[in-house]
Amino acid sequence: MPSSKGWSPRRGYALVFAGILKAVQMELSTPVKYIKRVGERVAAGLAERGIETVEDLLYHLPFRYEDRLHPKPLSEYRAGEMASIVGEVRGTVLLRTKKSPIFEMTVGVKPPGDATEMAGLLRPPPVLETVKCLWFHGTYLKDRFKPGQTIAVYGKLEGSRSGNALGAVPGATKFKLVQPAFEILPDAVATGEDAEFTMLEMGRIVPVYESLGGKTPWGAKLTSRWLRRVMWTVFRELAESGATAEETLPQALRERLGLPTRMAALEALHFPAAGTSMTELMSAHTPAHQRLIFEEFWYLELGLELKRRRLREREGTAFATGEKVREALKQMLPFKPTAAQKRVLGEIVDDMRAARPMRRLLQGDVGSGKTIVALQAALVAIENGYQVAMMAPTEILATQHYFYARRLLGDQISPTTGTPYRVALLTGSLNDRSKREVRGIIFRGEIDLAIGTQALVEEKVDFENLGLVIVDEQHRFGVQQRFKLMRKPAACGVATEPDVLVMTATPIPRTLALTVYGDLEVSVLDELPPGRMPIVTRRMPEDRAAEVWNFVRKQVAAGRQAYIVYPVIEGENDDQPEFDFAHESKAEIDQESKTPGRGKKPVQVKMFEKQKLRSAVEMFEQLRAGGLKGLRLGLLHGRMSADEKEIAMARFKRGEIDVLVATTVIEVGVDVPNATVMVIEHAERFGLAQMHQLRGRVGRGPAKSYCVLLTGSKISPEAELRLDAMVQTQNGFELAEIDLEQRGPGEFFGTRQAGLPEFRIANLARDREVLELAKKEAAKFVEAPDPNMDRAQIDAVWARLKQQWQRRYGLVEA
Ligand code: ADP
Ligand code: MG
Repeated sequence: MPSSKGWSPRRGYALVFAGILKAVQMELSTPVKYIKRVGERVAAGLAERGIETVEDLLYHLPFRYEDRLHPKPLSEYRAGEMASIVGEVRGTVLLRTKKSPIFEMTVGVKPPGDATEMAGLLRPPPVLETVKCLWFHGTYLKDRFKPGQTIAVYGKLEGSRSGNALGAVPGATKFKLVQPAFEILPDAVATGEDAEFTMLEMGRIVPVYESLGGKTPWGAKLTSRWLRRVMWTVFRELAESGATAEETLPQALRERLGLPTRMAALEALHFPAAGTSMTELMSAHTPAHQRLIFEEFWYLELGLELKRRRLREREGTAFATGEKVREALKQMLPFKPTAAQKRVLGEIVDDMRAARPMRRLLQGDVGSGKTIVALQAALVAIENGYQVAMMAPTEILATQHYFYARRLLGDQISPTTGTPYRVALLTGSLNDRSKREVRGIIFRGEIDLAIGTQALVEEKVDFENLGLVIVDEQHRFGVQQRFKLMRKPAACGVATEPDVLVMTATPIPRTLALTVYGDLEVSVLDELPPGRMPIVTRRMPEDRAAEVWNFVRKQVAAGRQAYIVYPVIEGENDDQPEFDFAHESKAEIDQESKTPGRGKKPVQVKMFEKQKLRSAVEMFEQLRAGGLKGLRLGLLHGRMSADEKEIAMARFKRGEIDVLVATTVIEVGVDVPNATVMVIEHAERFGLAQMHQLRGRVGRGPAKSYCVLLTGSKISPEAELRLDAMVQTQNGFELAEIDLEQRGPGEFFGTRQAGLPEFRIANLARDREVLELAKKEAAKFVEAPDPNMDRAQIDAVWARLKQQWQRRYGLVEA
């Protein structure tokens, strides 16, 4: 359409610019800098967020949506709910208070079903319902708004006293929103560039993105609005260049499962069609979500399936289990094994007898008696003339295992060789000379069972004849280390790979175990040794601590021992590595940026007042002088030297200490059956898995045991849930489910190094059903691809898998 003004410089540049863009055909692999509105500078910023290509950008999915087509009427909301409201700015005012200026805005919202445009002609204009929005330190907003503007606000609704009062005038403000997110919506009569994009912001389900931080070349933040425009442009240009062809699932599979194509799915998530269920969108259950989630799981499971198959073909040691071995096992057992222990040992031994390397995960709740099973497995290898390496995550644990093994094996004679068993301890804290010596005897084959920490892996330890590797409390180790140890023998010239038994006390739902430890078979010890009484668990507010100390005194008087655990070592701002702070206390910032797509529920802003935390060191002194005066107190924390720790632990074990004041260094594995009381101070700050582990330190003997959760004054709703769960159940699997729900898989498993594959959309806690399906389909595909499948598509799958395996899932080939 020729403009009346003829050629304008602006239009001219636009044409030239468009011409340059045309030269670059947009594909998923196109670097983001070629996208209109992006350019070099923004691209550099995006690269820092891991977004380099168009494809990366498309996977930056909205973390929530606002239905601006059919907004929920105010009357349907209740206080406390998150609300997304579209309305009109009625008035603003900056209230100067003593503390900080508060910016207040009144937003008028049309009642539903009112044809307002026409209404004025026929009857008086409708009474708008109003919502009051408040921003603290809001001076910066002073000149942002004009009455009459259309605005979208999002936040948590709180009741407003005046509006809810009896006899409040019609239209009085019933709700207020504190610090809501807002967006000024474009004018219906917008012109220029805005007009083109108006439809992205209004009258539809609008995507809201996590801000990408950086700045556009003209100085604006990379807001949701910016992202919508960029995404929109990308989809349009991709459609023009026909990039829709980049499909990643074989067509036959996709069609059989009724899944949309990848491009259709991505587009539906950035720009949901009218009528898409908001509930499904927010909970990642739309067909589009399911398709992308399925894809991620399917490729992961394909890789794992291949790995499992390859492992089955590899050569391992076939251990024999004759009469002598049985005799050895029997003479070592200090008690009657539980049925579960027998069954699990059977599974392990079957695996060890097979001529392929064992890769087995032994899951068992705290106190279920994993160690003895592991030692039995060790004996099988030793009686066959092989060496065994046993690795624990901490020196305390390694040392404890060492003494346990010495106690059980120390006086025994091997029925096969007629000589005593030889056990050695190798930890990082040995001096260099001792280390060298121990390494020497291990290398010469003069040691049957070598127990240690990471030192066994990190420092050069060669075995003469390593047959079995036992890794205890696996959740503390990275996958990398596990594999390093498995590879050891190849380095020292042993022909076959050793068997590997991994133990964990973190109960993991089966599907998750299959993913995180996807290449392992799983055994479960689901029974506690007999005679264990449930641990009585109680919550107590801090101000009743005196009663708790009295209780501890009584227990000590009865010959028992107690632990008192603190979240910090010393001082209140103490960061100690061993403490895994419960989620919300670590993040005192706006958690909204955690997207559902990334596995986290949006959490409300939570400002914790700085609370003074009691620390182990201070309380040790205080209790010694006060509450527990006269008792023998010991102190144990992560900043003590290995020797000091060991001495404290040994004294506690020998009963020379009544009460051990500690940090979470005692979390895993520590076994002192005479200890019957576990007091956790600031329990509201601890994660569920950690509290469960700590509680597992008591109830290990025949006497009745107690766990007291002492809580401070500030308890978040999430903490309430954890504390309640602790009181209600002792079942580790149940607690694990709750924990997983609350924290998401990333934190549940510890760190990234725990070997958890990183997903872009999938969430192991939320999407279990899809995972099951993907696993089944992957196995089917590896076994025999569907005859309807196109050969080229099958080849493409393998090529993609190869390229993705390392990069996306970060899993190591072994
Ligand atoms: P975990 O599975 O938490 O590592 P342990 O192996 O430390 O548990 O065992 C916990 C305690 O239970 C130990 O003191 C151990 O000797 C004891 N125990 C294990 N199995 C039995 C059993 N079958 N009967 C009696 N006590 C057992
Ligand atoms: Mg253990």
